[in-house]
Amino acid sequence: MFSLNSSFSDLGVAEPLCRALKAENYEKPTPIQARAIPHLLAGRDLLGIAQTGTGKTAAFALPILQRLAARQAQPKPRAPLALILTPTRELAAQIGDSFRTYGRHLGLRQTVIFGGVGQQPQVDALVRGVHILIATPGRLLDLMNQRHVRLDAVEVFVLDEADRMLDMGFVRDVRRVVAVLPKQRQSLFFSATMPEDIGRLAGEILSDPARVEVTPAATTVELIDQRVYHVDTDKKRSLLAEVLKDKALARVIVFTRTKHGANRVTQQLEKSGVIAEAIHGNKSQTARQRALQNFRAGRARVLVATDIAARGIDIDGVTHVINYELPNVAESYVHRIGRTARAGASGVALAFCAGDERAYLRDIEKLIGRRLAVVEDHPFHAPAARQGAQPQHHQRAQQQRPHQQPGRPQQRRGGRRQGERGGFRAAV
Ligand code: AMP
Repeated sequence: MFSLNSSFSDLGVAEPLCRALKAENYEKPTPIQARAIPHLLAGRDLLGIAQTGTGKTAAFALPILQRLAARQAQPKPRAPLALILTPTRELAAQIGDSFRTYGRHLGLRQTVIFGGVGQQPQVDALVRGVHILIATPGRLLDLMNQRHVRLDAVEVFVLDEADRMLDMGFVRDVRRVVAVLPKQRQSLFFSATMPEDIGRLAGEILSDPARVEVTPAATTVELIDQRVYHVDTDKKRSLLAEVLKDKALARVIVFTRTKHGANRVTQQLEKSGVIAEAIHGNKSQTARQRALQNFRAGRARVLVATDIAARGIDIDGVTHVINYELPNVAESYVHRIGRTARAGASGVALAFCAGDERAYLRDIEKLIGRRLAVVEDHPFHAPAARQGAQPQHHQRAQQQRPHQQPGRPQQRRGGRRQGERGGFRAAV
C-alpha cells in the first residue's frame, strides 16, 4: 500500500513528529516503519516480527504519540494511557529516550520504571500522571501490587521483545499484566522470532492483527552461505585484499566494530585500488548520504560500516557481507548478514575470526543453531593452535568443518580438499 520510498508524512505522521524526526536526520522510514505505521494510525493491532536495529521503536512510538496528542487526553494520577512492556532496563531506558526525542514538540508526559533502583521517583512520576509508561514486568507488578499504578485506563499496549521475555522467564508476569488491561485497547506485539509458544501468547493478546515481518527470518538466514576464515588480526587486511580479487564480490558490505576501524579499512582498500566508502556515526549526514549513493549506484564496490551506521538503511543487491570484525553481540551478526539476502535472494556472508574473537563466534553459532563452514584454503589461515588453543586444535578445527553439520546442503559436505577449494572459490 505504501512504497518503501514513502516519507513519514506520506504515511500519515503528523507535522510536529516529522519535525522531530528531521532533527534526528531520519530521512525516510525504515521498512518496518513504512509497513506498520499506517496500520497503527488506523487503530489496528499489530504483530511485528522484527529485532532491535530495525527501527521498530519509532514504528510503535510515533503512532502512540500521535494518537495521544490528537485526543488531548489528560491522564489521571497513577493511570497511564499507554503501556510499553519490555524485558530489560536498558531497553526500557532506550525506549524512554526515543519517546522523549520523537515527542518533544507534543507536551505529553512519560516515565520509565524498572527494578534495581529506588522506587520513590518512579512513584512520584506516576502520581503526577503520565500519558506513557515504559516498564519492565517485575517492577510494574510490584508497583501495581502496592497500588501505585493501575492499568484500567490503558488504550494502547505494546509488548516488546516477546521472545526475550520468554527466555528471561517473564511470560507469567506478562500474562498477569495483560489480565488487568481493558479489553478495549490497541495491542502491539513485537518479537524477533516466532516460536510456537510466542505465537500462542500473541494470539491471546492480539485481535485481528496486521502482520509485519522485517527480520531476516531463520529461513532467510538459512539461505545465506556462511563461512568463517580463521586469521590473525594483523593478517585480516591482506585477507580482505585477497578475497576481493574475485569479481564475484560485486557489491560488498564490510562490517567493523568501531568507527576508527571503518576508516582504517576504507583507507587500506583505497590504497589497494578498491573503491570503498565508509559510513559511521562521525560522518556528517551529507557525507553519509553521498557514500550510500555511491554504493547504491555501483560507483563504490565496497561499503565499510559500523552496526549503528548501517541501521535503518536498506540496500538491495548486496552480494557479500564481510564481518571483518565479529560483533560482540550475536544478534548483530544476524542483522548484518541479513543485508545480503534481501527479498529471498541468496547471499554470501564471510566472517574473519581472530583468536580473541572465538568466543563471539561460539555465541553466534549458538544463536543461529549451526556452525559456520571453515575456509582453510587461503594463504592466511591461522590454525587454532597458533591462537593460544590446545596444540592438537588444528586437527580438531578440521574435524569441525562442515561434516559436523547435519542438515547442511550436500554441496558443502563434499570431500575435504574439494570442499575447501570449492568453498573458497564459491566464497570469493
Ligand atoms: P530500534 O530498532 O528501534 O532500536 O532503532 C535502531 C536505531 O535506528 C536507533 O538508533 C534509531 O534512532 C535509528 N532509526 C530508527 N528509525 C530510523 C530512520 N527512519 N532513519 C534513520 N535512523 C532510524
